[in-house]
Amino acid sequence: MLKDARDYVDGVLSHNRLQLARTITLIESTLPAHQELAREIVDKLLPHTGQGIRIGITGVPGAGKSTYIESFGNMLTELGHRVAVLAIDPSSTRSGGSILGDKTRMEKLAINENAFIRPSPSSGTLGGVGRKTRETMLVCEAAGYDVIIIETVGVGQSETTVASMVDFFLVLLIAGAGDELQGIKKGVLEVADAIVINKADGDNVNRAEMAKKEYETALHMLMPTSPNWTIPVLTCSSLEHRGIDRIWETILEHRDKLTASGEMAEKRKIQALEWMSFLLDEGLRQWFYSTPKIIEILPQLRHLVAKGKTSPTAAADTLLAHLKRESDS
Ligand code: GDP
Repeated sequence: MLKDARDYVDGVLSHNRLQLARTITLIESTLPAHQELAREIVDKLLPHTGQGIRIGITGVPGAGKSTYIESFGNMLTELGHRVAVLAIDPSSTRSGGSILGDKTRMEKLAINENAFIRPSPSSGTLGGVGRKTRETMLVCEAAGYDVIIIETVGVGQSETTVASMVDFFLVLLIAGAGDELQGIKKGVLEVADAIVINKADGDNVNRAEMAKKEYETALHMLMPTSPNWTIPVLTCSSLEHRGIDRIWETILEHRDKLTASGEMAEKRKIQALEWMSFLLDEGLRQWFYSTPKIIEILPQLRHLVAKGKTSPTAAADTLLAHLKRESDS
């Protein structure tokens, strides 16, 4: 028997971790009844969101993301912050295993009472990364977490989605790992608010400094995303906890500058509008493909197009004509 939305809302607002975890489970559920309840809860929590600093972190596997978040997150809780970490798992089938994996990857943070770590499966549920992660982020804010970190692996699509829901997007790199951009697509650098070269320790310090100069040159060629912000290239050692405080200062500086110029409010407004369009597209698509007539004729039309007996345009027109009839009736 499902509980009332109010129970979840009260639990989240009173910073109850168990209720927070249960609410996120509802958000991730594909069952229509859960979806409906989750929507009601998120709606009620919405007035209590927005006050957190939202940070996206990306980097190829091995760049040191979890080591960095462990160091960064523990530093923030020492400063009095409450930190939520949402780690996007690129393969949903692995999600059972990755919960354990993440707990050990961030050993101290996982048992820190002012931190909340939650792996977020990236597929297998309605709307993919965008939907669940965004709603989970909002619920964490309502539960009093004032720094939200969303970790994503720097391969695939998820990083641009994450960049579109955070205030600050940090790209974590390592020096001397072969090609200059380490498989990180140029597009990712374009959405970066800072580049951090990790593992600047031991024999690696000089190489990290050289890489820093290379990236500064490469970034010079890109158009700045804001007239008030030049993307800095920083170095740090997550293992030795050096340079981590400078990164936090940079994030605060970015927030202060963009808040003063009005760009932060504008950024969040645009993100909200894009989010609405996304939900609308999702809803329309879902409605379309669940219409009985479409379910009936889609396979035949696909077959005809595959055989070259109908043009793709004609097939799409036929399907859309049914949709129009459906909405008129
Ligand atoms: P992720 O896959 O990006 O989450 O990377 P991990 O945090 O799991 O780190 C991958 C490896 O790099 C581990 O063996 C870490 O101990 C190591 N590592 C991470 N950060 C640093 C660092 O600052 N310095 C050094 N020397 N090693 C690091």
